[in-house]
Amino acid sequence: MILYLHSNVSRADREDLLGLLARRGARVVEATDPPGRVLALVGEEGASDPAEWERHPAVERVLLPATPYHLVHRDFHPERPGVRAGELLFGGEKVPVIAGPCSVEVEIDLVALARFLRDAGASALRGGAYKMRTSPYTFQGLGEEGLARLAEARQATGLPVVTEVADPRDLDRVCRIADVVQVGARSAQNISLLKEVGRAGKPVLLKRGMMSTLGEYLLAAEHVVAAGNDRVILCERGIRTFEGATRNTLDLSAVPVLQRESWLPVIVDPSHGTGHRRWVAPMALAAVAAGADGLMIEVHPDPDAALSDGDQSLLPETFHELMDRLRRVASAVGREM
Ligand code: PEP
Ligand code: MN
Repeated sequence: MILYLHSNVSRADREDLLGLLARRGARVVEATDPPGRVLALVGEEGASDPAEWERHPAVERVLLPATPYHLVHRDFHPERPGVRAGELLFGGEKVPVIAGPCSVEVEIDLVALARFLRDAGASALRGGAYKMRTSPYTFQGLGEEGLARLAEARQATGLPVVTEVADPRDLDRVCRIADVVQVGARSAQNISLLKEVGRAGKPVLLKRGMMSTLGEYLLAAEHVVAAGNDRVILCERGIRTFEGATRNTLDLSAVPVLQRESWLPVIVDPSHGTGHRRWVAPMALAAVAAGADGLMIEVHPDPDAALSDGDQSLLPETFHELMDRLRRVASAVGREM
């Protein structure tokens, strides 16, 4: 249940309402924008009668979204204020691009790559230190050494760092380095991990599970927000279908649908979405045309030698060219890159 308070609500009425809700055992989450006006009730036992709250003098109106997710519902922040990660804003006029290798590798000069990406227009550096590989016999990531290399590249370039956590036991370590913590497609149904990243307080880039409907995906995001962290960035990265020509089927319709259904920003990952570098540029351009609030693109200095996802990684020069084309599409749809 979502309560909109009167814009000129008195302090006494507001405190009376919060006191009543607390006595009924309702946990209240306040929207930060606009400040002090919108409350959502989580765990509504004993406080679930909308008519009762509608009569309270602090309350202007009560909304009951017809969905099981309330905190990420568009009604909670109808203006879609965006999500901030340090200086970065996802969901504003500028469309941030997160770029970098699938995995941090010993052979990659990450500082040089990060400089190139920054100069080409990337807003953040990505790179996995803990990799969740389908096969146990492939590269599993550099772990702490990978985190240290990411920290070094941030220090050299000023680019914020996005990196994945898959195991709650690594969360503290990852949070010490990451500006944005990524939760991967394979973890989208790991409810205990979602709750832990919700408590950790860093912005979260939550990928869509490869088998998740949009409704299930938004409930995964609701877990993070309900655990106390409303800085969640959604990322469409393709779903498993019968099609074999691409690694996944990139569901670009997820962009407008999620933006209508939720206030959270929605970015697109055409690298995992297609699995082949040839299809990355057209789908990145299409994503921006469709209104995506950001992109995540894998770039590797030597894709054929990459220890993970080489087939879908762009060469740095190709990324540079793509950025020029993306700027033109962004300006055609009223955004900037
Ligand atoms: C990744 O970003 O490298 C990754 C593993 O992505 P996903 O979880 O979408 O497969
Ligand atoms: Mn990858």
